[in-house]
Amino acid sequence: MPIDPVELSRELIAFNTINPPGNELGCILHLEKILSDAGLQTSVQRFAQDRANLIARAGDAGRLPLCFTGHVDTVPLGNAPWSVDAFAGEIIDGKMYGRGSTDMKCGVAAFVAAVGNMVEQLEGTSGVVLVITAGEEVGCEGALHLVRAGIPGRTGAIVVAEPTSNSALVGHKGALWLRLTLKGVTAHGSMPHLGINAAFKAARALTALETFQFNVAPHPWLGAPTLNVGTVRAGLNVNSVPDLAEIGIDIRSIPGLDHSRIQEHLKAELGDDILLEPIVDLGAVWTDPSSSWIKDVYSIVRDVTGDEHGLNPRTAPYFTDASVLTPALGNPPTIILGPGEAARAHQTDEYCSVDRIREASDIYSRLAAKWCGRSE
Ligand SMILES: [Zn+2]
Repeated sequence: MPIDPVELSRELIAFNTINPPGNELGCILHLEKILSDAGLQTSVQRFAQDRANLIARAGDAGRLPLCFTGHVDTVPLGNAPWSVDAFAGEIIDGKMYGRGSTDMKCGVAAFVAAVGNMVEQLEGTSGVVLVITAGEEVGCEGALHLVRAGIPGRTGAIVVAEPTSNSALVGHKGALWLRLTLKGVTAHGSMPHLGINAAFKAARALTALETFQFNVAPHPWLGAPTLNVGTVRAGLNVNSVPDLAEIGIDIRSIPGLDHSRIQEHLKAELGDDILLEPIVDLGAVWTDPSSSWIKDVYSIVRDVTGDEHGLNPRTAPYFTDASVLTPALGNPPTIILGPGEAARAHQTDEYCSVDRIREASDIYSRLAAKWCGRSE
């Protein structure tokens, strides 16, 4: 029985993998069973209680394999009530509803079905490796565990099945989230001169951050790096001098702008009195759209969807596991291409178009066949 990507999407949505805490193990073991039954070699990497990544391999001769990757954790449901069951995978008007449908269980189901249904065809070829991760939504935790363990080695190219409406995107910015800590000395609110107010230190830092310049030329397609102050906290009660302030900043970086250089630059601007700690540190991803594999991808996508990528390469607004996987797998060309719609990700009543799930599965089979020299 061939694996049906739409039915599999529904099965994956039924697992509650809201992160935190994740609890992806059940979903991962379900996929492991399907893939090993289909004839792939599988291995499960457990990295915490009820949390695991899955690697599956088909074919292993010749050049490096093509990698498909996706995560199975989801964000929480949010405060607004859903009008459908968030775990039922119900199809209404050609849309499959559920938390994690668009981001990105339908994408995972599409490549699992594509590869699971062509295992015999991949035998004796360079083949395909599937990297299915847990814990992407809180900073690519699962991918980091894989990479630390040296799994899965090098690959020749990477397809990240995050939501792009089946358009092939060639990169995204990096993310550097920093916690800035400023220390003061507490005192009674009636005698502020006896203390050192950490809130005033934070105020001076905020002014410097507002005018911070990266001093790099914008990337031709990803644009300029950005800096946002997302959180500011100081003080426990109104009648004390705060002895601690914390500022949370979100920097989105571009290729060639090294994160350690940004941190040095910030320290120079803000002074030694500030402790700077990275919370999330993920590099930008970029593949030259004129490379030969990207041309193959564009032509396959055009054949399946009719979408012309034309001259303007497209990029993703969000970051993906590719920030971790691409450098760890030898910096191969990387695309982001999946059936979900980026605008539906993380929303109430999240859904994915059923037609797009089938289309994505078709694109992935053709990509795998082309990579392994088994097409046309
Ligand atoms: Zn995602």
